[in-house]
Amino acid sequence: MGDTRHTKLLIIGSGPAGYTAAVYGARAMLEPLLIQGLQPGGQLTITTEVENWPGDIEVQGPDLMVRMQAHAEAMGAEVIADYITRLDLSKRPFTAAADSGTTYTADAVVLATGAQAKWLDLPSEQKFKGFGVSACATCDGFFYRGRDVVVVGGGNTAMEEAIFLTNFASKVTMVHRRGEFRGERILRDRVAKNPKIQVIWDSEVIEVKGTEAPLGVTAVTLRNVQTGATQDVPCAGLFVAIGHAPASELVKDQLELHNGGYVKVEPGSTRTSIPGVFAAGDLTDHVYRQAVTSAGMGCMAALDAERWLAGQG
Ligand code: FAD
Ligand code: NAP
Repeated sequence: MGDTRHTKLLIIGSGPAGYTAAVYGARAMLEPLLIQGLQPGGQLTITTEVENWPGDIEVQGPDLMVRMQAHAEAMGAEVIADYITRLDLSKRPFTAAADSGTTYTADAVVLATGAQAKWLDLPSEQKFKGFGVSACATCDGFFYRGRDVVVVGGGNTAMEEAIFLTNFASKVTMVHRRGEFRGERILRDRVAKNPKIQVIWDSEVIEVKGTEAPLGVTAVTLRNVQTGATQDVPCAGLFVAIGHAPASELVKDQLELHNGGYVKVEPGSTRTSIPGVFAAGDLTDHVYRQAVTSAGMGCMAALDAERWLAGQG
């Protein structure tokens, strides 16, 4: 049997939402415990330059998250390297079982588990994951020096990944299933002007091809969604950048969800369908999904929790 620790406020997740909730929760004297999960610092740790965090014209994502953690700790939050495997919201105090064996009990919970990369769900993609197929250019781009790579997706992440990969790759082919990108104008312009990036529109990846020994990618097969024509694009790596799905697994049978798995909160608040449980950041937000909006919701969640706890006496 592991330890049991009780806290007034348990924050699950260490992205901008979690750390901001921790700063506000600590300043409200709630002595929060924050559980970092498998990705300490959250999604921004897998990117490079962040240019839209107010106050920093440019900041490296991982650096920003180290500063957020230090800020939360300086205010008095306890940041714990652990992972919640089970959460029981059916009775109070709420109970969270963690990978370390510790059980956390809490009067109030802020859920800030964010989102995770989506995959194409092709058997060949699965086969070459980690051997030429990646969802993180920042992590794996370096391995593709002087080689050709393909990036699939048409959002901000795909465009940023493609631009970043031009630092290493000889050529970056972007494959998008429609005829226009959905990401921001500034990134669309940068992609269009980058001589190393070619875009193949209206196409989807239907297969990843490669060698068996050693396991490695040699090409992707594309199908034009309008004509049905197929073509092979030779490449050494495939970067999948087709968005993220909310990490709502822990609460999917306990809280009301909507829009494909996002935790539903009362409009203008972070209150979920269970009193005392609050949700913030990408876990609840299928529209904005930005660091600054997540941080804003983290603030709201801590304030909502503080008021709710005060109301409980
Ligand atoms: P996340 O950052 O997703 O963090 C979730 C946290 O929950 C993680 O720490 C994880 O370890 C933890 N967790 C999950 N499950 C558990 C569990 N069971 N137990 C404990 N912990 C758990 N936004 C911008 O504003 N500007 C940008 O330039 C920008 N660039 C981006 C680049 C990339 C490549 C990506 C993928 C996203 C980018 N975004 C950007 C979006 C931004 O990163 C997200 O909106 C933001 O990180 C969401 O914050 P969050 O706190 O909700 O969750
Ligand atoms: P996104 O905006 O949801 O874009 C996902 C892209 O992948 C879309 O173009 C989508 O096509 C495509 N796609 C989805 N499923 C697919 C599939 N099965 N096969 C092929 N293509 C598929 O996701 P994102 O780019 O990861 O961005 C997520 C959030 O983070 C956004 O809010 C974004 O603004 C934010 N972000 C911001 C920055 C920044 O501010 N600099 C950087 C990165 C991310 P369709 O267009 O046809 O739907």
